[in-house]
Amino acid sequence: MDLDSFINGHPTSAPGDARLVCVSPIDGVTVVGSVASASAEQVRAAIAAASSALPAWAEVPVRARVEQVQTAIAEVLAVGAQSGQLIAAEMGKPAGEADGEFAFAERYARFCGDQAEAICAEHWTEDEEGTLLRVAEPMGVIAAITPWNAPVILAALKVIPALMTGNTMVLKPSPLAPLAVTSFLSDVAARLPAGVLNLVNGGPEAGDALVSDPRVDMISFTGGPATARAIGAAAARSIRPTVMELGGNDAAIILEDAEWGEELAERIIFGAFLTSGQVCMAIKRVYVPRSHHDAFVNELVQAAQRVLRVGDPREEGVTMGPVISADARERLERLVDSSARAGGTVIEIGSIDDALPTGGHWMRPRLVTGLDDDHELVRDEQFGPVLPILAYDTVDEAIERANSVEHGLASSVWSKDADRARDVARRLRVGFTFINCANRAGVSLRAPMGGRGLSGHGREFGDLGLSEYVQNHSINYPRAAHPGSRMAANRYPVLAVPPRRR
Ligand code: NAD
Repeated sequence: MDLDSFINGHPTSAPGDARLVCVSPIDGVTVVGSVASASAEQVRAAIAAASSALPAWAEVPVRARVEQVQTAIAEVLAVGAQSGQLIAAEMGKPAGEADGEFAFAERYARFCGDQAEAICAEHWTEDEEGTLLRVAEPMGVIAAITPWNAPVILAALKVIPALMTGNTMVLKPSPLAPLAVTSFLSDVAARLPAGVLNLVNGGPEAGDALVSDPRVDMISFTGGPATARAIGAAAARSIRPTVMELGGNDAAIILEDAEWGEELAERIIFGAFLTSGQVCMAIKRVYVPRSHHDAFVNELVQAAQRVLRVGDPREEGVTMGPVISADARERLERLVDSSARAGGTVIEIGSIDDALPTGGHWMRPRLVTGLDDDHELVRDEQFGPVLPILAYDTVDEAIERANSVEHGLASSVWSKDADRARDVARRLRVGFTFINCANRAGVSLRAPMGGRGLSGHGREFGDLGLSEYVQNHSINYPRAAHPGSRMAANRYPVLAVPPRRR
């Protein structure tokens, strides 16, 4: 599969354009496909197209915009060419799990469609002060930059609300998994007015050309902190707003009145190891009451034996594929080694299929016990299948330790008593807390999701996921400004003593 950029209503490439080759993490050699690597000039052309399309698209009544976006997505999915197999091949998540990415786009388009009219509505206030009209206007041209770990979902979370609220967009997916998202959204873009949605591919250079262009009105970014700093600096130069959906170091706090047993252990394994642990809102640390620690570690090992099978992600029944790259695997293996050197106990869990391709970035999932909180595996986002299990003595202590990291994305609290779990949740410094579940199991389209601290700012999902893309414009006509009004001083009083002329 070889794909072009999609600019101003057309696939766009020029002879001799550089190409980004996508090599599968399943064996480290198979070329799954390629995308055109957009030059700075092509990025500028995409922004120009989005700028030209903006006035007309913003004028389309919101209901009609919603219908156009929903219809475009439904038509592309009806063709049936989109499949999780492609995502599995390009970034390694199990194909069945990846199938859900396209279904998500359709579901999210329905949800946003139901919200868009309210978000874009004008509000009139008529009272003794006068007439205030508040208009929700599109932000304008949106630069959207996304990562590889859920390539279609993470792009859909930006494209759908932004377009429905009247913005136009240039999207740059990750060079590590560009194929499924570029193919799907180029087909969607082809069904919309030219220039409304444009796609360019590339690495940091293309990303930088996009976010540094003064015609961009807002940047919506999902990714890691180093990139966020570079993008934040570019946004600061022209004082443009950003939405930053960054990494997490999510704590799962299991209270001593949790429903201990097989199901709890399986839910924790799912929350931590989905997509090989490469999910922003995966469980990244587990806090367990000391009295339950050893027995629960044992439960986790047994649960992993039942549900965690590492293998070729294109095969049915596999629950964990390879990690994204050789670099990622090396970084994670170093983290495991340093955990052992620091006195941690490393426990291999799950099963791994025989005869996997040798060049694949396979990792045996692991638990690590006995680490101090200042070890990197606990302090930082590991973004891979290595999970620290930490014993605590009091709930206050667990909360303090959960809050002691720089990230603040999500968390989970596990207890039979939902009110007690909510009380603990209120004390966690994060943007989202799940009760008795975690990761994808806790996501709700109606629940805004986002972080604080190093996890970023702004929200996706819920009504807030749309309102990020509109700006308020207040148009006020005070009664005092009506002709002849004597209600208030809306002009200088006539001077009691006439001024002397000079
Ligand atoms: P990354 O920051 O390396 O890359 C993200 C995107 O930024 C890619 O498209 C990349 O090409 C682009 N980019 C890189 N340098 C750039 C620059 N200088 N200017 C503009 N764009 C540039 O992140 P990644 O490795 O792709 O993704 C993993 C990270 O994303 C993890 O930290 C994960 O937790 C986070 N994440 C967060 C969420 C969320 O919703 N909060 C969701 C998924 C992933």
